[in-house]
Amino acid sequence: MATKTYIVGNWKMHCSPAEASLLVNRLVTDVKRVSSDTVVVLCPPVLDLTTVRSELRGHDRFSIGVQNIYPMDEGAFTGETSAAMVKGLVEYAIVGHSERRHVFGEKDGLIAQKVSASMRNGLTPILCVGETKTDHANGHAKQVVFDQLEAGTSLLTEEELHDLIIAYEPVWAIGTGENAEAKDVAGMFARIREWFETKYSKTISQAIPILYGGSVNGGNAKMYLDLDDCNGCLVGGASTNYKDFAKIIEAV
Ligand code: PEP
Repeated sequence: MATKTYIVGNWKMHCSPAEASLLVNRLVTDVKRVSSDTVVVLCPPVLDLTTVRSELRGHDRFSIGVQNIYPMDEGAFTGETSAAMVKGLVEYAIVGHSERRHVFGEKDGLIAQKVSASMRNGLTPILCVGETKTDHANGHAKQVVFDQLEAGTSLLTEEELHDLIIAYEPVWAIGTGENAEAKDVAGMFARIREWFETKYSKTISQAIPILYGGSVNGGNAKMYLDLDDCNGCLVGGASTNYKDFAKIIEAV
């Protein structure tokens, strides 16, 4: 059984280094309690990584992740950042976020390579899966998520699955304020675990942490965190509001 709870903050394209410094400072001061099995993962823009690293010195419940990586370790890939380049600064990498899939057109094959590159460089990939509003309305959510799981894990060994995190983020719930109902999230979590059990084993299915993401805030986080099968939340908008993010951390 997955034993840790992950509260992941995806800052998206927000915060200069000076703003990042202020935000982390305020957050660590404002958070009254981080429960002992909780890992808070801040995912700022790459430009802020060294600042955030130094601000978090001495705060051992806080870790750092990147929002995206390129699958190759180095080379002529203008504007990209590799897992090999950031591995001394971060422990996690968000891969396959819906904005990467839908704004930047990333396909499953590329996402599989990014998951594999994260593993190869010792970063824990947080693989995001989730259906669009149309998929949802047409009753295709389960199949879309299964296809994304199949592709996203296709380059991993069974051993590596023990270091993978899944974030279920229905696309229609991201940044819209239209958060999914807890019973629907519980249903999808159960399906995701069934998928891992059928393809691999019950042990793997139970060990993989599954997070919910999509308009989580200080007011609704507990509803998801209280679900039996929920191992945390991936938070976008509310993660750059230190008061709201502190409430989410304290809801565990
Ligand atoms: C996200 O960026 O992964 C996300 C879930 O965003 P928001 O919390 O703003 O919906």
